[in-house]
Amino acid sequence: MKKTIADVDIKGKKVIMRIDFNVPLDKETNSKITDTTRIDSAMDTINYIISNGASLILMSHLGRPDGKVNPKYSLKPVYEYLAKKLSGTTVLFANDCIGDEVVKLADSLKAGDVLLLENLRFHAEEENNDANFAKSLANLADVYVNDAFGAAHRAHASTAGIAKAKANMPAVAGLLMEKEIKYLGDAVANPERPFVAIIGGAKVSSKISVLESLLEKVDTLAIVGGMAYTFLKAQGHIVGDSLFEESYVDTAKEVMAKAEKMGKTLFLPEDNVIADKFDNNANIKTIPNDEIPDGWMGMDVGPETLKDMKKIIDSAKTIVWNGPLGVFEMENFSNGTFEVAKYIAESGAVSVIGGGDSVAAVNQSGVADKMTHISTGGGAALEFLEGKELPGIAVLESK
Ligand code: AMP
Repeated sequence: MKKTIADVDIKGKKVIMRIDFNVPLDKETNSKITDTTRIDSAMDTINYIISNGASLILMSHLGRPDGKVNPKYSLKPVYEYLAKKLSGTTVLFANDCIGDEVVKLADSLKAGDVLLLENLRFHAEEENNDANFAKSLANLADVYVNDAFGAAHRAHASTAGIAKAKANMPAVAGLLMEKEIKYLGDAVANPERPFVAIIGGAKVSSKISVLESLLEKVDTLAIVGGMAYTFLKAQGHIVGDSLFEESYVDTAKEVMAKAEKMGKTLFLPEDNVIADKFDNNANIKTIPNDEIPDGWMGMDVGPETLKDMKKIIDSAKTIVWNGPLGVFEMENFSNGTFEVAKYIAESGAVSVIGGGDSVAAVNQSGVADKMTHISTGGGAALEFLEGKELPGIAVLESK
């Protein structure tokens, strides 16, 4: 078990916390946050720290500025939202994350004050896990907290190097990180059975490790979304112009053979909503497997598939879900994804939503509060479900 913020004395101390404020901004002005979930989810730990007599320095990345200052990726909009959420608290913003101005601002903090640093990735040293950069961050505070589960799969200065950068500085998990480790860990280590994993999304190539690893643990593995077509093709079905990865056909065959040998149920779509172009306004048909004509592509699962998925979900005691069942960003192909979100919410099973697009789908279908746990990390959640040790968690102290 990892030590958490509750295991160290923070009264009168300065705490530096890595959080995941990598929020989506609107494409036009780049200044409006379009989904505040990541900030909202960090509030418990932030409030815990400031109400326990510590001052708090927050650091995060936003987007991929590639080691250069780029106003497009400034955390200023996050600061504005945060200052509103913490009204009554002194919330400051530093125009950089290291340097004299930051040191001065950090020194000026009183118990209960909050300082948000500018985007860590304006410095290439962050992603290079540079020791001096990590030390400059560590020297701002007395205690290091990592609550950025979404960045824990990266060994960067703020997620890995910092934990060893200053002698005797405690390095512990925040409350959100603790929750992520507990729910994602328990779901796969001690699931109540039947244990069902639903893995969707675009590509087999990006999820093959998680498919292989979950297959060992689940009773039923449902492979849906764009990646299902590589499996269907491997079974000899005709998939038209659906998303398809030729180089993964053999892998798909191996996964299916392994599932059979292990006595696991591997579920694939039985019917499809197809379109004649990748567009919400395309011509649309619903058809069984094998009837996808050339020039048409599978964009969502059909009603027969949903009927069977409901049965699988209703019989489950634990469900892990990652990845949409169709191109849910387009309204005409969002039905499968939103229906499955509702089935999971209604099922009464322990439900763990493993990050990324499925989180957006759960939020959009209005069932978020019915899920047991919604992970804030996309890539990190996948790597955790694969059973990998994440660098940002490995460096935290154990108890
Ligand atoms: P991932 O990041 O791998 O979870 O993939 C998410 C993406 O998969 C979303 O943007 C979906 O639009 C896309 N997706 C889901 N189903 C399909 C499909 N049948 N064809 C093409 N893209 C899909």
